[in-house]
Amino acid sequence: MVYNTQTYSIADEPMKPFIDPNEIWDFLNGAETDESKIETIIEKALAKNRLSLNEVAALVMTQEPHLVEKIKQGARTLKERVYGDRIVLFAPLYIGNMCTNNCQYCGFRVTNTNQKRVTLSHSQIIDQVMSLEDDGHKRLILVYGEHPKYTPDFIADTVRTVYSVKHKNGEIRRVNINAAPQSVEGFRTIKESGIGTYQIFQETYHPETYKKVHPAGHKSDFDNRLTSLDRAQEAGIDDVGIGVLFGLYDWRYEVLALVRHVNHFEAAYKVGPHTISFPRIQAASEMNIDDKYMVSDEDFTKLVAILRLAVPYTGMILTAREPAHIRREVLKYGVSQIDGGTNIQMGGYSEKNATNQDLQFEQFEISDTRSLAEVIDELIENDYMPSFCTACYRNGRTGEHFMEFSVPGFIKRFCGPNALLTMAEYIEDYANDATRAKGYAFIDRKVDELSKTQNVEKLRERLEQIKTGVRDLYF
Ligand code: SAM
Ligand code: SF4
Repeated sequence: MVYNTQTYSIADEPMKPFIDPNEIWDFLNGAETDESKIETIIEKALAKNRLSLNEVAALVMTQEPHLVEKIKQGARTLKERVYGDRIVLFAPLYIGNMCTNNCQYCGFRVTNTNQKRVTLSHSQIIDQVMSLEDDGHKRLILVYGEHPKYTPDFIADTVRTVYSVKHKNGEIRRVNINAAPQSVEGFRTIKESGIGTYQIFQETYHPETYKKVHPAGHKSDFDNRLTSLDRAQEAGIDDVGIGVLFGLYDWRYEVLALVRHVNHFEAAYKVGPHTISFPRIQAASEMNIDDKYMVSDEDFTKLVAILRLAVPYTGMILTAREPAHIRREVLKYGVSQIDGGTNIQMGGYSEKNATNQDLQFEQFEISDTRSLAEVIDELIENDYMPSFCTACYRNGRTGEHFMEFSVPGFIKRFCGPNALLTMAEYIEDYANDATRAKGYAFIDRKVDELSKTQNVEKLRERLEQIKTGVRDLYF
């Protein structure tokens, strides 16, 4: 895999800011979008090459409907060719919503006095995790406001608490984090608790807009946030997640800036981000954002396809902020991870009857409120392979998405079989009869397919072991 080698107006160095807004606009305004150029760019991506910013700009500026269709088809082909049909499942768990920042889009902002402030206690975390395990979850992302109370030691403690909960056959095998930026020392403390990915979204890469929507608190420092995942790298956290909150500024600029961030990691650390997230703004209590830059469904689908082509080796995360029909559509263009059974009310998982109507008690409104069981059932129905696999992380193989992408045969040897093993565990422990029948038919079909190109004896043995009650088998 050859990383991007383009150079920019601001040279990439570890821990140094790298965004030049004029340069990003120059790329966009100079884009050439004739048909043959677009086709060549798509071919380049399909050959698993990183695209330059000029090339990404060309895709972004393309408006001809039939060319946009080609871009989407390209992303679909790339996803199918490189990653196949697996979709990794996770759930967010909000640990605390106290916050000293004043992000104008967020229901947790400090000036929102209507918000009920809650930090889950040790025993409340255990209750939430037990409920999540009872649904079948194995991977969580813990979410925190930014507050002096949420120190690195506090965060590390909550991670350890989550890992300690073993309930019936349930356990959480990978804990990711979405929390405020830390110092190198702080990141180190959190890493020691055994986290997977540390996610921090820049929200917007446009400094002026950033200032407007983050008027106070630590988060108002654009460069501090921009370099935060460099500090994570310095602390040894090499699985990091980046993202933009779409709807704050022009989506075309933000897509280029996201790719610029990827290029910064590649240049400064010889590693790319583990995941890219692309949340769109949802309604939130006391939200103060005008709708000038809201992203249409059409542009949203297009931008997901462009990101897939631009950075073919990262995981792409799509959350329940989006309604089910958009999730169904966008899944095709390169998404690798989704949440299921999401409840972002503080303490909401153990109170199954709580509704998402009361915005006062959550950060924003989610649109896909289906249970994990419903999401899994639909995935199988549509021929996707639901996966709770955590094997790479637990075998010390960091950068799993990168390996899937770059190591020949990796998916066939590890990811596919491991996904099927976690699927069988889910079916045995949590599925209803209908999903069980569909799920095992799917597994049998996939094992047969695999058997045409590799020895599947061990896989068959392990699937049988799972039926007898053995758990946590992986390659
Ligand atoms: N407090 C930390 C921070 O701001 O980075 C961590 C978690 S914050 C609770 C998680 C993410 O939620 C933010 O980075 C932001 O992108 C997203 N978010 C905030 N308000 C939102 C809204 N109204 N709609 C959709 N996403 C939102
Ligand atoms: Fe606080 Fe994060 Fe919400 Fe901003 S986005 S107000 S930092 S919780």
